[in-house]
Amino acid sequence: MRIPIQEVTPETKTAEVLGWVHEVRDLGGLSFFIIRDRTGILQVTVPKKKVGEEVLAAIRDVSRESLVRVAGTVKAIEKAPGGRELVPVEFEVISKSKSPLPLDVVEKVPAELDTRLDARFLDVRRPRVAAIFQVRSSVMQVISEFLYARGFVNVVSPKIVAAATEGGTELFPIAYFEKEAFLNQSPQLYKQLMMGAGFEKVFEIGPIFRAEEHNTTKHLNEATSIDIEVSFADHHAVMQILEDLIIRVYQEVNDRCAASLEAMEIGPLSVPKTPFRRLPYADAIRIAADATGVSYGDDIGTAAEKAIGEIMGEHYFIVDWPTEIKPYYALPYENDPAVCKAFDLMHPRMELSSGSQRVHQHDLLEKQIRTKGLSPESFEFYLQPFQYGMPPHAGWGLGAERLIMTMLSLGNIREAVLFPRDRHRLTP
Ligand code: ATP
Ligand code: MN
Repeated sequence: MRIPIQEVTPETKTAEVLGWVHEVRDLGGLSFFIIRDRTGILQVTVPKKKVGEEVLAAIRDVSRESLVRVAGTVKAIEKAPGGRELVPVEFEVISKSKSPLPLDVVEKVPAELDTRLDARFLDVRRPRVAAIFQVRSSVMQVISEFLYARGFVNVVSPKIVAAATEGGTELFPIAYFEKEAFLNQSPQLYKQLMMGAGFEKVFEIGPIFRAEEHNTTKHLNEATSIDIEVSFADHHAVMQILEDLIIRVYQEVNDRCAASLEAMEIGPLSVPKTPFRRLPYADAIRIAADATGVSYGDDIGTAAEKAIGEIMGEHYFIVDWPTEIKPYYALPYENDPAVCKAFDLMHPRMELSSGSQRVHQHDLLEKQIRTKGLSPESFEFYLQPFQYGMPPHAGWGLGAERLIMTMLSLGNIREAVLFPRDRHRLTP
């Protein structure tokens, strides 16, 4: 009976394991194989004089990254990884690997990210790369648990849509029978429809598609958005939920993913300090003005983000944005309509999330859609529920990959996606 490699301890007597041949070392009379499965590595030591002909034939034939089955006796030995080795009675090559490998799994030579992504299945055989996706999986689980525990309903909105959420050009058109359709860039409009439907608290974790042409280290053309929308809540309330969520994610990753963090050689995460500071947009611009030349009314681009992040040094919110540069659905302050109840959650390196209290008044919403140069006619399905008892509401969208990237200090957002889609990459 096969057991996970991790379960082979110095006290184990006999074991049968399945794994990939991580490393091979031949010292003449003695051969060493490091066998790897998703739980760990194990040294297999073959004293050539003491094993049968079948074992000898198999080890002559085996290449690195072949899948093998090894059964034999376990010996405690201090110098081996995990303090034990396996001496085979049986050694079978189950699935042979071609040589040379498109990517060196042992990483003697560091590979370019492009090479790694081309051979992603081999790349994620590396324990420290697999660890990213272990953490990602846990993060998604924690987020769902957190939101379910707070009474959120999980919804799924369509990804094939007729209208752009925010107008603009960042849309992928698709052929939809005789009509023109697009891949959705955000579940925004549908989340709001569900507020009109009386759902009160919804969340969705799903893909968003953005036809951004530029190649950056923090943009994907297909990303994962964690979205919430809450009725009878203002922007302060949903910022608090977001702050609580981020903290919970960091804490739980430390609790649940110690082995993965160790495999990545980053140790326990330092949990962000709370409360996250609320930095008014006007002050943010002042901080960035000298270094980057931005002025009031400008968007906060990458350079400004960085300049402000260096000063802030920890997660923070940028609040009170000019109405003009936020989407039409962000609610202006009653006493100062040039400023709206929108916020961005920032990691010192980049934006993680955008949100706001939303406009729930039909006529104001229609007016703001026009102000943005869009036509209310193409938003009819969206505007309709605002005439039938729409509650006040607020929400945000948080980029899953940016959360993982900043949490694990990854240099490129592509490292947080198994099969990233970017300007040049459509396979694998
Ligand atoms: P940025 O200005 O950094 O390009 P954005 O303001 O256009 O981001 P939003 O429309 O506010 O993005 O989307 C909400 C969140 O979704 C962002 O804060 C980010 O975390 C994530 N996100 C948006 N677009 C992308 C993308 N192309 N790749 C990865 N994540 C994205
Ligand atoms: Mn944004």
